[in-house]
Amino acid sequence: MNCRSFRNQLDALDNDDLPIEMLVHARSCPECAAEAAALKAALSLYRLPDLVGSPDVAPRVMALLPFVPAPRRSVSMGNWLVTGFVIVFSMVLVPLLAEFRALKAVYGNVFTVSLSMALGLFVTLYAGAFIMSHLDEFTRRLKEREAQHGRAA
Ligand SMILES: [Zn+2]
Repeated sequence: MNCRSFRNQLDALDNDDLPIEMLVHARSCPECAAEAAALKAALSLYRLPDLVGSPDVAPRVMALLPFVPAPRRSVSMGNWLVTGFVIVFSMVLVPLLAEFRALKAVYGNVFTVSLSMALGLFVTLYAGAFIMSHLDEFTRRLKEREAQHGRAA
């Protein structure tokens, strides 16, 4: 049996039990075995009794969990903007502090340069985190823009 005939027979199956020749193929072919397992899981999910009518919801929710996408922790755009504003505001205010002037008087330009490098690194890390966490959104907007230009041209 090859993969194509395995999958054709899998689609035509009436019950969950695989015939012996399909079991033999699934033993040697991990892709077909995974396909059969996914179909079996989907069928068992489909055959679950109605969630609303059942007094015991927990086992059914547990059965649904593998099919639910993983939750993503998201920070709102407002929080990102407030944080960025605080960072920039701090960078503007730091040279005005009396402590900054006192440290600059003691250590000279070494202090100014190293503080600038530290703040620059901080801003770079912040911008990197912002971009990495919004890649999906940027990609979606870029595709929308390309689609609009494709229609206009
Ligand atoms: Zn196969």
